[in-house]
Amino acid sequence: MAELQRPTLCCCRKVLTVPSKSCEGGRTLGQCRLVDIASASNFHSFKLRHFHLDLHLNFALKRMTGWQVLELVPIQPGVQTLVLDTHPSLHIHSIDCKVPGTAGSPDIFLSLTYRVDPFTDYGSSLNISLPASVIRPHRAFQITIRYTTTDGPAIWWLDAELTCGQTRPLVFTQGHSVCNRSFFPCFDTPAVKSTYSATVRVPEGVTVLMSASRSAYSKQDRVFQFSMEFPVPAYLVALVAGDLQHADIGPRSRVWAEPCILTCAVSKLGGSVERWLAVAEGLFGPYVWGRYDIVFLPPSFPIVAMENPCLTFIISSILESREFLLIDVIHEIAHGWFGNAVTNATWEEMWLSEGLATYAQRRITTEAYGEAFTCLETVFRLDALHRQMRLLGDNNPVSKLQAKFEPGVNPSSLMNLFTYEKGFCFVSYLSQLCGDIKRFDSFLRAYIEKFKFSSVVAQDLLDFFLGFFPELKENCASQREGLEFERWLNDCGPPLFEPDLSAGGVLTGPVQRLCELWGTDAPDAQAITTFDLSTWSTFQTVLFLDRLLDRSPLPHEVMSQLSHSYSALLDGMNAEVRIRWLQIVVRNSFYPDLPRVRSFLLKHTSRMYTVPLYEDLCGGVMKCFAVEVFYQTQARLHPNLRRTLQQILFQTSAGTTMSTVSALPCTSSPTLDASPVLAPPVLAPPTTGPTPADPPANGTIALRDVNVSA
Ligand SMILES: [Zn+2]
Repeated sequence: MAELQRPTLCCCRKVLTVPSKSCEGGRTLGQCRLVDIASASNFHSFKLRHFHLDLHLNFALKRMTGWQVLELVPIQPGVQTLVLDTHPSLHIHSIDCKVPGTAGSPDIFLSLTYRVDPFTDYGSSLNISLPASVIRPHRAFQITIRYTTTDGPAIWWLDAELTCGQTRPLVFTQGHSVCNRSFFPCFDTPAVKSTYSATVRVPEGVTVLMSASRSAYSKQDRVFQFSMEFPVPAYLVALVAGDLQHADIGPRSRVWAEPCILTCAVSKLGGSVERWLAVAEGLFGPYVWGRYDIVFLPPSFPIVAMENPCLTFIISSILESREFLLIDVIHEIAHGWFGNAVTNATWEEMWLSEGLATYAQRRITTEAYGEAFTCLETVFRLDALHRQMRLLGDNNPVSKLQAKFEPGVNPSSLMNLFTYEKGFCFVSYLSQLCGDIKRFDSFLRAYIEKFKFSSVVAQDLLDFFLGFFPELKENCASQREGLEFERWLNDCGPPLFEPDLSAGGVLTGPVQRLCELWGTDAPDAQAITTFDLSTWSTFQTVLFLDRLLDRSPLPHEVMSQLSHSYSALLDGMNAEVRIRWLQIVVRNSFYPDLPRVRSFLLKHTSRMYTVPLYEDLCGGVMKCFAVEVFYQTQARLHPNLRRTLQQILFQTSAGTTMSTVSALPCTSSPTLDASPVLAPPVLAPPTTGPTPADPPANGTIALRDVNVSA
């Protein structure tokens, strides 16, 4: 295990990886703050060596009860308080301290006093008073916190009806970005990494998995044991427990899923994962985590996929969309190097994880599937980035790579396409600067080797880059006019450079030509029939539909012709294709295809396929239809999603309340004239998407639906 380099923080919220450095304000250790964590005031006062969780899972009561042991070493004198992040949903019963004896003296056991203070709406501050008489710098001690946690933002209890098999309940956790403080008290910052272990007791028939490198199971005691032997930040600790079975799909990979979807999952991934891992290792060096397993979760999983180390969590809804599944899994594999091995030290620089992982994902797909496919996927995503840009405006601060948090802002809300795609463009620019993509691969390998198991800031990456390519440093590459590194990091607006994607022309060209044909008031039916969508790849079709969606509202005659040409064909395609066509249907109030919207919403119960359609329905003239479908399906929706949809449906900008709207009569088959008057597209079409556990729906542009992979 590599020794951790502990970053320190200044009041200006810059992370200093060299403790003696100071920030621009001249302040150093102890004078800094991070606004998203209560533990910021003191986490650099301790080294967290390891922590252990011992939990009993009670599905009937939806509770986890047990204790956590933290092994800490004070690294500064005079430390009297330990501050950890926690959450109101986590109830602490007691806190004890053990200080190992020295020179033959016995261990010291003490009961500690503590206080929980409010911090933000996503967390609380746990202040533990330390016994000054026994806490000494560099002398390890243990804190044991006995607690019960229920249904906080990190913990998703699913009743049996919400699982794929509908026979047993299931629970999973989702820590990103700052949710795990409701799972266990912690330094909830990516700057702090430690090893961890866990003992989890469950009822019979339940299998537990964690983001850990080792596991063991005692059938007699129904106890699962886990150990993560490499240091990870708190947000990468993850657990899932339910009726899960597995099948091996490679020498170091297995798929886990509920029995009813296991065969399908294996058939979609078998043979591919090891190939992708091998390509990634050829590019970026050894995969350090040992295993790469994947667990498929029910549609209630609030995002598409999460890069939990050793065990990617992924939503089962993506199984039917092969190319999206491929991209999402490769993206999570890329996080094994970028994000998990080397982590952004603050959430303000999330692009260091997502921008680099997106670049790495595209290097892998270029090697495995060719440049044309990779360029097509990139065009599709950069289209979405520019769509978002148009909606947000050029001066929106969320388009900065280095975000600046204000107190109380949940870092999860800053997860957006800029983090991924503007970050990707900056990394592509660095790659282009060095002039040779293979040399840049070597740089990335060296970057991982130097910083693995630590957390970094952008300056670390850029300093290392200029050190690796001294000729660029000599030529002042960081200062090229209009492309200054500082400008990349701190300016609002679109990327300053986009990579050459002309190699994708063979695939994007037909899409462009078909879009042009449909761009007239009287499309040439004969010419259109020469394009056979059934032979297109999914990314070609979704790119085509996204561009049609951008042009909505369309003339009614064009909509009729589109429906005649494609509606039946698209019915047989995957959900990523279908939702886009149905959004076009809704945004154009095209009633003949409304039954297709209903059957889609009756089938799909994941956030990524329901929220965009309900928002479009409510943004137009089909709200009554939406309300009716919602009442038909709500029993099969997770309570968090149900709440989000209720907010969309019943808390409109007009201030309508749930009680008044639900009392309005609704027709089951709207017979209103198809009006072209629709709200302009507010949100990017879905591709994949992390969303905070229970985000507000307030009618403003919400980044929660900016669909990105975690
Ligand atoms: Zn990611």
